[in-house]
Amino acid sequence: MQTRFSQKQLEDPKIADAEKILRNCVHCGFCMATCPTYLLLGNELDGPRGRIYLIKEMLENDRPATEVEVEHLDKCLTCLSCTTTCPSGVDYAHLLTHGRSHIEKTYKRPLLERLFRGMLSMILPYPNRFKLAARTSGLMTPLKSFLPDKLRAILDLKPPLSNVRAAQLTKARGKPKYRMGLSAGCVQRAVGEHINLATIEFLSNHNVDVVVPPAVGCCGALDEHMGKSKNAIMTAKRYIDGWIAEIEKGNLDAIVINTSGCGTSIKDYGHLFRYDPDYAEKAKLVASLAKDISEAVSEIGIGETQITDKINVAYHSACSLNHGQKIGDLPARLLKDAGFTVSPIKESHICCGSAGTYNITQPEIAGELRERKIKNIEATNADVIASSNLGCNIHIASGTDIPVLHVIELLNWATGGKKPEAIT
Ligand code: SF4
Ligand code: SF4
Repeated sequence: MQTRFSQKQLEDPKIADAEKILRNCVHCGFCMATCPTYLLLGNELDGPRGRIYLIKEMLENDRPATEVEVEHLDKCLTCLSCTTTCPSGVDYAHLLTHGRSHIEKTYKRPLLERLFRGMLSMILPYPNRFKLAARTSGLMTPLKSFLPDKLRAILDLKPPLSNVRAAQLTKARGKPKYRMGLSAGCVQRAVGEHINLATIEFLSNHNVDVVVPPAVGCCGALDEHMGKSKNAIMTAKRYIDGWIAEIEKGNLDAIVINTSGCGTSIKDYGHLFRYDPDYAEKAKLVASLAKDISEAVSEIGIGETQITDKINVAYHSACSLNHGQKIGDLPARLLKDAGFTVSPIKESHICCGSAGTYNITQPEIAGELRERKIKNIEATNADVIASSNLGCNIHIASGTDIPVLHVIELLNWATGGKKPEAIT
């Protein structure tokens, strides 16, 4: 694709990066066929190629974003299905980040929208605030039918709050072979601590000392999803500092991440901080240690399994793991190795609609995608659904009676750990 940036504009390294990405696109449109929003809405501007043009136009002319760019970039799920399909290797993810941060800098959203997004950013990354908000939101249930769609979407999710907390240090059950850190997350600490406990139990049973540093919280991915790049960077710096302090206490073999949405962002820290002299090296180190739990399990080995019954698992491949981290079907292979029957899901490359905060900010499209995903899952006659991302699990569970678990809960149970409550 030809570009028209001036020499002066290209002196800004971020614009130079965007220009390089734009030049790789040859307008072929292959990406459109696998873009969920294009499939649903059928508008060129709701597909990757259209969005690439919108970003190009806005950056080249160095003008403020308009409602058109905001509407179509907001509708992007950041699922990155387009990057898996693109034959030219267009780095859409980083181009979208440029586009969204330009919107954040130059476009003033309507007051209610600003308040809503500000509220999400102030509550979601903080487990205690999240729990308080979830408890008080119960008071609003009788008023639900009077609330705007986006607030109703939050109430509809209603995941049960966690009332347990993972220990800061869990020793290996046998002779320790590894020392690993667990990135326990932010929302996950409020509503998915059972996933952290299953991860720790699995690791400890497989001779890993596991640390969960209290100073390590949100990784910044939620703010990044909403285009709030300044907040995302501040939060990511705190996250990096937390791990560096832990590494100074003793060598870590890995930072284990069991929310794949976060993993995609953390593995990209080297890129995010490439121009920051204070954080570039530390960010690279943290990114290099980051491993999805499926990668850690694959390295450690599953060992003996005790699954003898035929349990049919529909494995939902989270976009962040599949398209973002390009981990492919590794979790499904691990489930098979552990003795489960794994059923493929039709259209497995299409997003379920969860996508960070997307199911809250774009509830209609997210709802349609969820229905489509559940229809494909239910066609497998699965006993249980498994994925590697809390956001997908909560979103899918809000539309089906089939239990939805994290992959590690099943692997842990199969190898002698606790049976997940959802299937007891
Ligand atoms: S597939 Fe790649 S090169 Fe083709 S239009 Fe899409 S982004 Fe551009
Ligand atoms: S990230 Fe997903 S929704 Fe966005 S353009 Fe690419 S395929 Fe479409």
